[in-house]
Amino acid sequence: MSDLDNAQDDRGGMPQCVIDKGVSRCESCGSLVPAQAVFENGFTYILQDCPFEKKTFKKLKYKGKWNIIRWQKTPSYWPWRATDKEKGLDWGRSDPRRPILALMMRTECSARCRICELVTSRVNKEKPAGLDVAAAKRTIAAHRGKMVSFCMAEPTENASLAELIRFASERRLITVISTNGLKLSDGKYLKILKDAGLRYIYMSFDGFDEDVYEKIRGGKHQYYLKLQAFNNIKNEKMKAGIKAVLVKGVNDNQVDALLQYALRNNFVTEVSLQSLSLGGEEESCGFTKEHLLSVEDIKFLINTVLHLSEDQFDCWNKIKIGLAAVMAKFPFIRISPFEFDAMYLVRKKDKLVPVLDGKRLERIASLLRDGKITGLIKAGFCLPASFFRFVLKEILFKRRLLETTDDLVLVRIRTIVSKPYFFSYSGMLVHKNMLTP
Ligand code: SF4
Repeated sequence: MSDLDNAQDDRGGMPQCVIDKGVSRCESCGSLVPAQAVFENGFTYILQDCPFEKKTFKKLKYKGKWNIIRWQKTPSYWPWRATDKEKGLDWGRSDPRRPILALMMRTECSARCRICELVTSRVNKEKPAGLDVAAAKRTIAAHRGKMVSFCMAEPTENASLAELIRFASERRLITVISTNGLKLSDGKYLKILKDAGLRYIYMSFDGFDEDVYEKIRGGKHQYYLKLQAFNNIKNEKMKAGIKAVLVKGVNDNQVDALLQYALRNNFVTEVSLQSLSLGGEEESCGFTKEHLLSVEDIKFLINTVLHLSEDQFDCWNKIKIGLAAVMAKFPFIRISPFEFDAMYLVRKKDKLVPVLDGKRLERIASLLRDGKITGLIKAGFCLPASFFRFVLKEILFKRRLLETTDDLVLVRIRTIVSKPYFFSYSGMLVHKNMLTP
């Protein structure tokens, strides 16, 4: 069975199988303990065997089957590679060569969403979170990648945010924030961040219905503040990505509205969708595992809304796996990690259409299948002339990032991989020396 076949086999039916083995941090004592990921009746669980507490813990992780095998096909310097498991555990080590520095701002969020796991997931609850700004600046100065992402929990509640953005942008680093957007409803504050050099905003936004925010976040008022934030971003001519959490039966009917919003507003260049997470529990915050969606469920919702064939995402995944194998032959060329279950759409007059049609995708995927350079060259001839015109005009001539062009919308499916730590993820660096006691 191929890696992708494994990835698609997530509809349940199998009694139990072990997906991966490693270590993870015990929820109870905080020590690193033996753990395994298992797939059982359509859900992925983490089993921890804690020798210190002499207990076994079973945590519900995802609906569907997590497939770690395909991450192993990425070039060695990408953080997703399985051999980075050990590095991922050593939070004191930094790797300034990684493309993205994700700087955790350690500012607790006042939105108080029902679905939030961040506060409960902090291992050392006795130790107040905080950011050492001088240490953060040293880390930014040492970063040799291209981007700094200010995230977790809520960067806009940290008084040093503008100062750090300015510090990073003066070093020609691309600056990005991941925010709940509530403070961006204040146009003056957004302008301060823009003037400091902020380039891109990821904002959580779960649909166009105030009741959604009442049911899954911290109240209806969030909806109107977030709408105002979008207006401000648009007025400032900045670019933004929508991050939506989908809860089955609550807002899984909002996918169309979110994509339509992206179609009509070219300041939105990304729509990313992820399922509700229950933080390891079978039931939490009034929701049960019946409210979760698998990656396959979300693909189905997107494909239905956009009238795409079932295998669009899978074709893109195959292309990325093949391309990763080719790029591994050129370790001196450093590029950002490819994301799976993600694809670019082109904004046409009244609809979003895939960058490449189904036949071209299949052809390119088959040419790259063996990971050979000749396959890559042949695949280049399959690309339409419009693709090269786009690269010339937007990327080379205007020196824009894909995320900041007016024509493209990235649609992607996200999974939460914060725990256990053997699931390392893109650009994630956490520095002990940045946490004040
Ligand atoms: S906005 Fe995000 S970080 Fe803040 S409480 Fe809600 S889910 Fe948690």
